[in-house]
Amino acid sequence: MTKLAYLDWNATARLRPEAREAVLAALQAGGNPSSVHGAGRAARRLVEQAREQVAALVGVKPSQVVFTSGGTEANALALSPALGDTLLVSAIEHPSVRSGGRFAGFQDIPVTTDGAVDLDALQRGLAGAARPLASVMLANNETGVIQPVAQAAEMVHAAGGLLHVDAVQGPGRIACDFNTLGADLMTLSAHKIGGPLGAGALIKRESINLDGLLKGGGQERGVRAGTENVPGIAGFGAAAEAVARVWREEAARMAALRDRLEAGLKAIAPQAVIFGANASRLPNTTLFAIPGVKAETAVIALDLEGVAVSSGAACSSGKVTPSHVLAAMGVPADLTLGAIRLSLGYSTTDLEIERFLKAWAKLAESLYKSRKQRDIAA
Ligand code: PLP
Repeated sequence: MTKLAYLDWNATARLRPEAREAVLAALQAGGNPSSVHGAGRAARRLVEQAREQVAALVGVKPSQVVFTSGGTEANALALSPALGDTLLVSAIEHPSVRSGGRFAGFQDIPVTTDGAVDLDALQRGLAGAARPLASVMLANNETGVIQPVAQAAEMVHAAGGLLHVDAVQGPGRIACDFNTLGADLMTLSAHKIGGPLGAGALIKRESINLDGLLKGGGQERGVRAGTENVPGIAGFGAAAEAVARVWREEAARMAALRDRLEAGLKAIAPQAVIFGANASRLPNTTLFAIPGVKAETAVIALDLEGVAVSSGAACSSGKVTPSHVLAAMGVPADLTLGAIRLSLGYSTTDLEIERFLKAWAKLAESLYKSRKQRDIAA
């Protein structure tokens, strides 16, 4: 990435040096973890070491970790009718959860105007549900709003159900302990925490038997067939180990930078609306809009200035569809089309924040000028 200011960490984080080293070493070593010879056993050791590192990050036993190709696959693996009769999904989940996994349909759980899951609505949904399986994310990838997962877990358990938590945006930013959250299933993704793209994990309560998606070999205790992505998994493990060690300091640093960013944004455009501003948010995420400014225009203009940001959802960068998250929060459609997401990471610098603010001031000035010209012409 040659960007001067990379402010799109919720789309993907920069690779941590530890992860890069682990990926390269595993690529160099080769070996199939299922082979019994030395090279195979060495590859197996890398996978099992990574399993320990990922397990430690979220406070579980290594046997509770199932490696997948990423967050999307882990979500699909979790949402199986073998684990419940009724699926309940919050309105702000990632599209990979909103697809319903292997369920034919699901019950929608609305959110408040602040972007947090409406627990009263969840309670009502659970009341009529047989063997419920609910999916509530730890923090939203667009707004950064932290969800009331522990309370949701209590409600779901009282109703005799299971809770799946898509925690992809959590580690490195907020505490992410599987048992404290009360999760039964939890999704993680390597590339959001500074690991490589294409690796992830589903964490499961020990008593849960997963219904595998990919059948074939006996890898991952028969739950996920296919030769393991050893370099990806090793890089994931190294990133997890680094995050577990340094996340508190990194989160505090990101929060300070984010506060500066938001203050600067407001100083340039006092009419800027920061979504979820009254809710508890990740320390690295700001989703905002300026009435009358189209996100597409702004993202392209900022890119020309060497500033990488996202419009709307990260995973749909490049296509202009209004955000389902903002729609669920009741944000008017014209404002949702202006939503720009800034997301910071462990190596974001003061300089990057300044570059963004400078580029933003320039953009705001030119938009102001062209609007004035239009007013004069009218
Ligand atoms: N869940 C959330 C909340 C995400 O933000 C993303 C990616 O943006 C995913 C799941 C999908 O993860 P992956 O890219 O590893 O498939």
